Amino acid sequence: MGKGTVAKVCRGPASIDVGSLCVHAVDSDAGLRYNRSGEGLRQARKRFSVVDEESVEEHGQAREELLYTAPRGTQDILPGEQPYWQYVEERIHTIAQLYGYQPMDVPVFERMAIYVQGVGQGTDIVDREMYCFRDRGGEELALRPEFTAGVVRAYLEHGMHVLPQPVKLYCVGPAFRYERPQAGRYRQHYQVSVEALGEQDPALDLEVMSVAWHIYDDLGFRGLSFQLNSIGCPRCRPGYAHVLRSYYGHHRGEICQDCHRRLEVNPLRVLDCKATRCQPIVAGAPHSSDFLCEECREHFATLLGYLDHLGRPYTLNHRLVRGLDYYTKTVFEVWAEEIGAQNAVCGGGRYDTLAESLGGPHVPGVGFGSGLERIILTMKWQGGQVPHLPEPQVMITYVGAEPKAASLTLVNELRVAGIRAQTSFGDRSLRAQLRQADRTGVAYAVILGEEELRSGQVAVKDMIAGGQHLVPSESIIDWLKAHLGVNEGT
Ligand SMILES: [Zn+2]
Ligand SMILES: [Zn+2]
Repeated sequence: MGKGTVAKVCRGPASIDVGSLCVHAVDSDAGLRYNRSGEGLRQARKRFSVVDEESVEEHGQAREELLYTAPRGTQDILPGEQPYWQYVEERIHTIAQLYGYQPMDVPVFERMAIYVQGVGQGTDIVDREMYCFRDRGGEELALRPEFTAGVVRAYLEHGMHVLPQPVKLYCVGPAFRYERPQAGRYRQHYQVSVEALGEQDPALDLEVMSVAWHIYDDLGFRGLSFQLNSIGCPRCRPGYAHVLRSYYGHHRGEICQDCHRRLEVNPLRVLDCKATRCQPIVAGAPHSSDFLCEECREHFATLLGYLDHLGRPYTLNHRLVRGLDYYTKTVFEVWAEEIGAQNAVCGGGRYDTLAESLGGPHVPGVGFGSGLERIILTMKWQGGQVPHLPEPQVMITYVGAEPKAASLTLVNELRVAGIRAQTSFGDRSLRAQLRQADRTGVAYAVILGEEELRSGQVAVKDMIAGGQHLVPSESIIDWLKAHLGVNEGT
């Protein structure tokens, strides 16, 4: 288990240490508490509540919440938000595939060891933010905090080195980090992760960076720019780390507590310290790009040449180190204008040693990850519009038992014909059904009554223009298709 992972183990069938939330059922009569595994939970007539133990730690008092609130740091993505999500995901799929990247899924959880080995001990993700648990078989697992380690694991496991290289993949899905919830940051959040494996060429760094740029440009983001740095490789980085440590050695009294720790476990991280007192020290720190070996220097210079050639604006950012152990050579972010400031919408880089740290052969790779919540937040802030999702077109209403049965057949036929048809439930009055049709926003309401069934005709009420048409039963589908503009096969 990672250091700092809070272990509040409920006495359940599997011990759970995924954070610090325990669920209790409060018996309002006896005041007894049952834990998650308690028999009492299954009994009826209990009042349920949740004790937010994080709040106990923070404020020293229990804040009881209703059971039906989502866990801290998670959110429901309600139907009203879905147009943004569907649109953004559709654009991601289209653009990634335009560059020849193939969709792929990896499990939501993996062996914990691949993150400890791959992402690295001493990183915030592994030490503080990972959701770790033992399953019932005693295996140590972790909810994925990011995708790259899982994708590289899959590349090795499925022998993708025999495919034409580079192997270009992308994933979209949830990732999990136990961090302080704030705007655009959730403990379950969604990411797109784009990865290119098996090739060392700096032109591939450029391609991956271009995928990110293309996605944000397509979504209409303004003020885009690359932030770029090279943090070297296992050959040259130790030399730089040594120089950095000795520089910081002269400023020991001036730096924050976190930076003392970082100097021990992950020295490059001192460069992205946010503490005010550390800023002057960071500003004067030596640059990693001045300590690159010949190979790393050439790689970086070539990439910069390609960016110049393409006319992409970039800023050399010597403070950019990214928080993960697996990065080598290129690290980058894309910044966009948001809430009056420039903010990173994605981060990535090269990870040439990751496959080896998982016990595989040498497989160079480069990729980036980007949070969908952040993308959508930026889109909204920049006033981006998204198309509406398809809405119902027709409501079938009925009066009486026989027409109701007929309505169930008709609604089925309409759906087969590609018309988004609804029917009403609960045997409400015709007036109530039409009111519902109006609220649903359909264009037409079909009215089935005993009289209509006998005469072989149905009444169709135009919900937009008003007025009513009598249509022969056998041609109702064609009539609706013609009036709704529904084509065959849609
Ligand atoms: Zn190097
Ligand atoms: Zn600091």
